[in-house]
Amino acid sequence: MIKLHNVTKKYAHFRAINSVTLEIEEGEIYGIIGASGAGKSTLLRIMNLLENPDEGEVVVNGQVLTNLTSKHLREARKSIGMIFQHFNLVANKTVFENVAVSLELARFPKEDLRNRVVECLQFVGLENFISKYPAQLSGGQKQRVAIARALANNPQVLLCDEPTSSLDPHTTGEILDVLEKVNQRFGVTIVIVSHEMDVIKSICNRATVMADGAIYDTISIEPKRMLGTDD
Ligand code: ADP
Ligand code: ADP
Repeated sequence: MIKLHNVTKKYAHFRAINSVTLEIEEGEIYGIIGASGAGKSTLLRIMNLLENPDEGEVVVNGQVLTNLTSKHLREARKSIGMIFQHFNLVANKTVFENVAVSLELARFPKEDLRNRVVECLQFVGLENFISKYPAQLSGGQKQRVAIARALANNPQVLLCDEPTSSLDPHTTGEILDVLEKVNQRFGVTIVIVSHEMDVIKSICNRATVMADGAIYDTISIEPKRMLGTDD
């Protein structure tokens, strides 16, 4: 589903990512772990070309993203959702509007938009929070809104940048449950960047350990839920 081939990203003369090759299969929950500054976030952002690599090839779902014009890249990005450590919701928009924005940008049919937003919010258990603003929500609820927003366009891939690093352990477990449900219900391939081995171990089936912009090791995991709930 995701292939990186000899990808390098430089900031001035510093190689934040140094010739990384990796392949993530369809339906995997794949972890990227490593110390702060290892290049995890940069590598994740290369997977949807939020960062443009200086060398190498990025292929997602059979499309060579690094060859696309900006117009075609916009189109390809519809199938790649992303969530962040600090949720990145728009503060002066309601929960409904935050999810609707991603559909509007993708020119989703207006007549179906309301139903689609509600369906996504139901999926994450927030259908009763439609008119709230982000400031009225807990961290876990904000991340659920962000997940609903990321899912609205039916992505095949969901990129998660430290999705639980702002959350307490219980809420972390709940968000990992939602991500697992996304993977199982829709077959979405999930990539999770985290510096917490507990998080990676509890949900990922494989993970790459990064150090100094390179892959240090790739490990297989028997996901074992140590955190969270089982609703
Ligand atoms: P991680 O997510 O593992 O903490 P990052 O991918 O954020 O690491 O960063 C990897 C390295 O690249 C770090 O040394 C960071 O300082 C550097 N870096 C990241 N983004 C930029 C940027 N926009 N300009 C310069 N250096 C950057
Ligand atoms: P069914 O199980 O009825 O065959 P799907 O599982 O394909 O249908 O989809 C059921 C609902 O979930 C639809 O509204 C669809 O838009 C939505 N859906 C399907 N795939 C995704 C996805 N990757 N992310 C979010 N929603 C999805």
